[in-house]
Amino acid sequence: MKIVDQTHDQFAEAFHRRYRKGTHFSTPVYRHVMKAGKMSLHKLAAFSHLSELAGQVETDLEPSPGRIIKQVSNGDVVKFVMRLEDGLDIESVVIPMYRRHTLCVSSQVGCRMGCRFCRTGKMGLLRNLTAAEIVGQVFAARHQLGVDIRNVVFMGMGEPLDNLDNVIHAIQVLTDQRGLDIARRHITVSTVGLTAGIDRLARLDGATVNLAVSLNAPTDDIRSRLMPINRSISMAALQASLLGYPLARKSALFMEYVLIQGVNDRQEHARALARYLAPMTVKLNLIPYNPAPGSEWQPPSAKAYERFHAWLVAENVFVRRRGEKGGRIMAACGQLGGKNQLLDG
Ligand code: SF4
Repeated sequence: MKIVDQTHDQFAEAFHRRYRKGTHFSTPVYRHVMKAGKMSLHKLAAFSHLSELAGQVETDLEPSPGRIIKQVSNGDVVKFVMRLEDGLDIESVVIPMYRRHTLCVSSQVGCRMGCRFCRTGKMGLLRNLTAAEIVGQVFAARHQLGVDIRNVVFMGMGEPLDNLDNVIHAIQVLTDQRGLDIARRHITVSTVGLTAGIDRLARLDGATVNLAVSLNAPTDDIRSRLMPINRSISMAALQASLLGYPLARKSALFMEYVLIQGVNDRQEHARALARYLAPMTVKLNLIPYNPAPGSEWQPPSAKAYERFHAWLVAENVFVRRRGEKGGRIMAACGQLGGKNQLLDG
């Protein structure tokens, strides 16, 4: 019986269908497995006189998919690799932040968006992750590594809005208060800007999740060179969609801008970027390009990076340097300098 990709109510319904028992039994099982990470049910009070049933449920419960096969630390950041049942590997990153831990999760194996600065993009899309495999990353971090994950960012491998049914389902499970209990305001979905997905996410029932957009360019010309998606969804169309996205109180859209030497680093680019951002409530994360081996581009010099940052500040853009509070993880889809560095660690 599935549990890791079930909300409490879905699990309770399936439990009742299978064992003809109500929430007096299913709720403690759900809490015990999802909140405490324990699969042994014999000590639960509800089963004190029903040890046979406890044994049966234990046997029937499907374990969380995938297993951690590797862990690498880089300072206080921990990357782990999970091997899925079909032998494919996915990566997740635990990042301590604001005294709470954040988990950067993958939503696909590979990615078909083809952003030219991204190593995952070069893999192409192998497959979507199931909701269980997405939730399973949080489950593993909490219950195998023992880390109190309180924030989840969809910035690992893949484009989450290209796997939106499973991502939405995973969000519903992650936020179930009787289970993993992660607040919606502590979830961030990062996208290249798939407007149909943004619009759908905007209409989700209940509290909104945070949205991060990998922008990286001040104009359509430059963005289309870096990100093929821009040839079908222009920056104007993206902006129209973002303006309709409901923001939580005191919140903002997160945007990432990877600064690449000689590509998007001139003063006119900073000005055009500021004009583009002006109608929106945005926190911009400025990330120096982290070149992959054989890359055609170079990172900006420290001086050029500071200069571009200063130009944006002068244009009244709320901009954070990478590595500042929160900035480190706000590297869209992770690949943009941030995650690759961690993952290579
Ligand atoms: S940056 Fe993100 S969306 Fe673009 S190819 Fe890489 S994983 Fe996909």
